[in-house]
Amino acid sequence: MAVFAVIFALVLAFASPAHAQDTRLPVSASFSILSDIVKAVGGDRVDVITLVGPDQDTHTYEPTPADVAKLSGTKLFFVNGLGFEGWLPRLMKSSHYPGELVTVTKGLKARTMVDDGKTVTDPHMFQDPERVKTMADNIAAALSKADPAGANYYADRARNYRGALDDLIVWANKQLAPIAPARRVVLTSHDAFGYLGQRFGIKFLAPEGVSTESEASAKDVANLIRVIRRTGIKAVFMENISNPRLVQRIAHDAKVTVDGKLYSDALSKNPEATTYLQLFQYNIRALAAAMKDNR
Ligand SMILES: [Zn+2]
Repeated sequence: MAVFAVIFALVLAFASPAHAQDTRLPVSASFSILSDIVKAVGGDRVDVITLVGPDQDTHTYEPTPADVAKLSGTKLFFVNGLGFEGWLPRLMKSSHYPGELVTVTKGLKARTMVDDGKTVTDPHMFQDPERVKTMADNIAAALSKADPAGANYYADRARNYRGALDDLIVWANKQLAPIAPARRVVLTSHDAFGYLGQRFGIKFLAPEGVSTESEASAKDVANLIRVIRRTGIKAVFMENISNPRLVQRIAHDAKVTVDGKLYSDALSKNPEATTYLQLFQYNIRALAAAMKDNR
């Protein structure tokens, strides 16, 4: 009987898929895009929990007690920082998170912009694939520290990911090359694409500021409609995370059609942008197609 029990236990230990997963490093990430980059670097050695999922808005998110419970079981918590997760200080205080908080934008130069007359830091660094390369290295460093046996594995994967991003940057420049600088103007809901615009020479206009929490003023909206009419901008987009109504109203009043949506601060539930690499390709394709119509 005892022998049987031992054999049974051994069979369970080798047969159970949970056995392999038990050895994975449990980590968490604040939002879907970051979660995907952590998965790209961490591969089979990590299990990633995501707080703010696909098509959800990180700016307006409110952590639930269930989220706090999920978070507490993870060794590392990856966040964007730069004020992107406005709820983070409150969460850290209330959750007594026992693991290590890793800010992936650390060491990267942030851009600032004027929002409602105030100079603010733009947190949307993940829209610049060049900066995402450094974010991947920061992620690899944090994973290696928590799981030293996987250091080479993480370094290899980060290098591969950097290579994929380099290829994408070359590809994006080719897509955009036929579009004259004067035509590279786009309207979206909120100021999420400043880094992308800086990298690829595109000017983004938005009725809302760097956060979707701020309301667009009637004066800003009226100004945008005037700008669209005067400049002949045809590239007008909604975003997957925000309410489309404001952009639709502006497009209607300015007598232009909405070109569809861009993926700003989250991956998609549909198959269009389920990884960061896909999200970036989708956005560049959509932007290039729409900007061709600008006069
Ligand atoms: Zn945003």
